[in-house]
Amino acid sequence: MSETTETIFSKIISREIPANIVYEDDLALAFKDIHPQAPVHILVIPKKPIAKLDDAESEDRDLLGHLLLTAKRVALEAGLENGYRVVINTDADGGQTVYHLHLHILGGRQLAWPPG
Ligand code: AMP
Repeated sequence: MSETTETIFSKIISREIPANIVYEDDLALAFKDIHPQAPVHILVIPKKPIAKLDDAESEDRDLLGHLLLTAKRVALEAGLENGYRVVINTDADGGQTVYHLHLHILGGRQLAWPPG
């Protein structure tokens, strides 16, 4: 599966399903992950329906930068001054399960490396 049509995240953007939203602007939305893997686990998504990182184009350069800056802002607003991790799982081997591009922000504990 690699197409972006209707995903659970597009339904969160349209408010068809609820989410714990912590940040929103014209381009991006951030909300708490429903199955947190760390004390803080927030997802940052573009409102533009890009299925996965592989599908981003050079025209998305500013949007991708905006998503990273949004991740930084959201992480610091969540109190992660000691650090955090930003992860983009991409396609099957990357463990992606929702095909709407998203950045995981994980923090609030010491994270192990390498990830599994
Ligand atoms: P990935 O495996 O990288 O595609 O991550 C998808 C993430 O979306 C997982 O961490 C899920 O827990 C999370 N998730 C799935 N459905 C929801 C939802 N309705 N609200 C918030 N997070 C969700």
